[in-house]
Amino acid sequence: MTDILDLVRPEIRRLAPYKPARWNTGSVRLSANETPWQPPGNESSPGLNRYPEPRPTELTAVLANHYGVRDEQLLVTRGSSEAVDLLLRCFCRPGHDEIIVCPPTFSMYGVYARIQGAAVAEVPLRAAKDYSIDHHGIAAAWNDRSKLLFICSPNNPTGHRVPTAELHDLCERIGNSGIVVVDGAYTEFAEADPTLELLGRHGNVVVLRTLSKAFGLAGIRCGSLLGPAPLIEIINRILPPFCFPTPCENAALACLRGDYRTVLAQRIDILKKERDKLAAGLLSLPDVAQVWHSEANFLLAGVADAGEFTARALAGGVSIRNF
Ligand code: PMP
Repeated sequence: MTDILDLVRPEIRRLAPYKPARWNTGSVRLSANETPWQPPGNESSPGLNRYPEPRPTELTAVLANHYGVRDEQLLVTRGSSEAVDLLLRCFCRPGHDEIIVCPPTFSMYGVYARIQGAAVAEVPLRAAKDYSIDHHGIAAAWNDRSKLLFICSPNNPTGHRVPTAELHDLCERIGNSGIVVVDGAYTEFAEADPTLELLGRHGNVVVLRTLSKAFGLAGIRCGSLLGPAPLIEIINRILPPFCFPTPCENAALACLRGDYRTVLAQRIDILKKERDKLAAGLLSLPDVAQVWHSEANFLLAGVADAGEFTARALAGGVSIRNF
């Protein structure tokens, strides 16, 4: 049986990461070729004329504490989208390796795979069964070139949450032959959070989280990649030197530390109630045939004519997506 780290592209395993200039030495800092003056309107210390810390250590610690993992198990990324890209670049050799996705799902898994030159095998969700995972299909599609299995739960755009037992089952079946990537972008809206159970039980799973959704911080582009410490250490190597902008780190810290977390719980509650009200309202429309149960902050509805429905919503001032 291979070690999970053997799945990492050999070039990345051998990579000597870039060594950034020393940071915060207390001395006059000429080593990073910065400018000595702060830009207009900026009075922060250190100023925006200075590079951020090579890795946002404080934010890493605060996020790790928030999600209940050790600092070494978490990598701060620019949105969880970047985490998808990092995984692809770390594990998939162009022209050789493959990922498995379960459409309809978040399309960026496939986009980043194609950018990397990795093949994309599709095992569609079972539309007739509440868009649940096709386990037999995944087992049949998994092969020697398969490296990553992307499972989005709750899934965008169906809102369906994959039961935790099924996630365990997928991790066990794939074993050390690949990584199960559980995208938990909408976890805060769901009835269960499998993050800690998964990380505690399996060495081949990573979980993606984001501050873009429930936290209402899409503008600062802050995601987290959670996984086994040795894997996080290797993925960390391919991040750029000063990987997270200072204003974004400060904004995230302010929200994660302050009273905001109480407000957040209330907002999530409101959104869930509004989601259920909207589902009932949609179902009362004559051309809405079905609204699927959602554990996210959106709804999937089956309508008679999706193009016409989308145009009608837009004419009424509401932008929706046609899948
Ligand atoms: N995963 C899912 C399932 C999403 O729907 C999105 C955004 N729509 C993302 C990840 C990316 O989110 P971000 O990069 O803002 O963290």
